[in-house]
Amino acid sequence: MRVVIGGGSGFVGRELTRLLKSKGHEITIISRQPGPGKISWADVESGGLPPCDGTVNLAGENIMNPLRWWNKSYKKDLFSSRVNTTKILAQAIAASPTPPHSWVLVTGVACYKPCLQTQYTEESDWTPFDLLSRLVKEWEAAGQLPENSAKKTRQVIIRPGAVLGRDGGAMKQMLIPFWLGLGGTLGSGRQPFPWIHVSDLAGIIAHALEPKEGPPSTEPDVFNGVSPSLNTNFEFTKALGRTLKRPTIFPVPGFFLDVFLGSERAVILTQGQKVVPKKTLESGFEFQYPDLTSALKEIVGY
Ligand code: NDP
Repeated sequence: MRVVIGGGSGFVGRELTRLLKSKGHEITIISRQPGPGKISWADVESGGLPPCDGTVNLAGENIMNPLRWWNKSYKKDLFSSRVNTTKILAQAIAASPTPPHSWVLVTGVACYKPCLQTQYTEESDWTPFDLLSRLVKEWEAAGQLPENSAKKTRQVIIRPGAVLGRDGGAMKQMLIPFWLGLGGTLGSGRQPFPWIHVSDLAGIIAHALEPKEGPPSTEPDVFNGVSPSLNTNFEFTKALGRTLKRPTIFPVPGFFLDVFLGSERAVILTQGQKVVPKKTLESGFEFQYPDLTSALKEIVGY
C-alpha cells in the first residue's frame, strides 16, 4: 500500500511509519519541514493528494508543549493546526481522481465528559462541554467527506487516550521526575486515566488502513484508542513507581496544575474519562500491551 501521513514526523507518526514500512508499505509524510519522503501542506493544497491507498492525519500543535504558555494564540494554534490540516486532506481526497480506500483521522477522548462512573464506548452520545471537546467536534467535522466521496473512501476516526511510549508524549516528560523519586499522583488520583501504548495505537491505525470488503458507510467508523484495562491516575502512578523501583510519595495538587498549565488544559491530567475500546476489540484488533505492567515494562526497558 502507499500511505500518506499528515504529521507523520511526530511521536505517533514515527511508530506508524516503522510499522507500515516493516510490512512493506510505502510512506509519504506531509510536513512543515522539507526532507526525503516528505511533501508540504502547500504541495497538497496546490497539487492535490499524491496517488495513495490510505491517508492518515496526525498533525497538530502539541497540547502539552511545556514551552508554550496557555493563552489565546496557543489555543488558536491548537485548533488551526488540527482543523486546517484535516480540511486540506478531506478536500484533497474529495478532489482526487484516484481517492484512497481509507481515510483515518486520529483525534482524542476529550470529547467524552470526565466522570468517575460513566463508561464511554464509541457508541456513546456526546456534545461539546468545554474547550477541548469543542476542538474534537470541529476537528472531526473537518474530516467528514462529501457523500459522493464517502461512497468510495472509508472514513475512520480513532480517539486515543494518553499515548505512552519511550520516545515522546507524556512519558517523555514524566520519566525524569519519576526516576528521581519525585513522581506522585496528580490531583485526587481517583480520576480515570485512559491510555494506550504507542505500538498499539500504530497497530489500530494500520488495522484501520487495511482494505475492507463491501462499500463503505457514509458515516465514519469510530474506534477508541485506549487499552482495555480501565485504570486511575493512582494506579498508573503506582505501576510506574513499581516498574522504576522508585517511591511515588509526592502528590501534585490540582490547583498547582491549574496555575502552571492553565485550567482548561490541566483537566487532561486532573480529570479523566472511563473509555472502553468496544468497537476496537470487536473489529478483531488484539492489543500487544493490554495492561499497565506490560506497557510500562516495555517503555522503561525492563
Ligand atoms: P506530535 O506532537 O508528535 O505532533 C505531530 C506532528 O504535528 C508534528 O511532528 C508536526 O509535524 C505536526 N505539527 C505540530 N505543530 C503543528 C502546527 N502548528 N501546524 C501543523 N502541523 C503541526 O503529536 P503525536 O504524534 O503525539 O500525536 C498525533 C496526533 O494524535 C495529534 O493530533 C494529537 O493531538 C493526537 N493525540 C495524541 C496523544 C498523545 O498522548 N500523544 C493523545 C491523544 C491524541 P511537522 O513538524 O513535520 O510539520
